[in-house]
Amino acid sequence: MNVIAATMRASAADEAGRPTRFDAEQAVTTLIRWAGDDPNRAGLLETPARFARAFEEYFAGYAADPAKLLSTTFEETNGYDEMIVLRGIPFDSHCEHHIAPIVGRAWVAYVPNGRVVGISKLARVVEAFAKRLQIQERLTAQIAQVIQDALVPQGTAVVLKARHHCLSSRGVRKHDSDMVTSRMLGCFRDNSVTRQEFLALVE
Ligand SMILES: [Zn+2]
Repeated sequence: MNVIAATMRASAADEAGRPTRFDAEQAVTTLIRWAGDDPNRAGLLETPARFARAFEEYFAGYAADPAKLLSTTFEETNGYDEMIVLRGIPFDSHCEHHIAPIVGRAWVAYVPNGRVVGISKLARVVEAFAKRLQIQERLTAQIAQVIQDALVPQGTAVVLKARHHCLSSRGVRKHDSDMVTSRMLGCFRDNSVTRQEFLALVE
């Protein structure tokens, strides 16, 4: 490969075929120009670099493996088989249609079947899926399913309540509405008493 070809490849994509940071910053510069501003004025000079760093944070979930987060479990539970609920976990996500923020809270519950997981891991699972391009329905389903698959509990339940900035700052401009989604698996789906017990803990 000659030097020019190698240089072109380095600027277009890294080894995994992913665009480089330089490519990402160029794209932001293009968007600023397209919005009608001058990317060379002082206030905007560092914006593409900042935007790229912010993107790394917003979408850190792509580098996370949610199933792996749940791989360490504890079995010395003295037969504990009641509901475990982590309430009101804050999350920030982005809608995949407008890349606008989705800001909300999650309620995550499961009824163990012999083993439990460190409670902070549930919050990290929410974060791992939230920090991707999402729709709220899929985010809800993914959180529930990975817990159900990894812990094989008697059941898993997830409720998300979130505000979608694509709803409040553009389009129909509804500022005060939030969206509620839920996923009930196992005993939460089959047993209305268990489901009601969980839903009573969602405020
Ligand atoms: Zn949207």
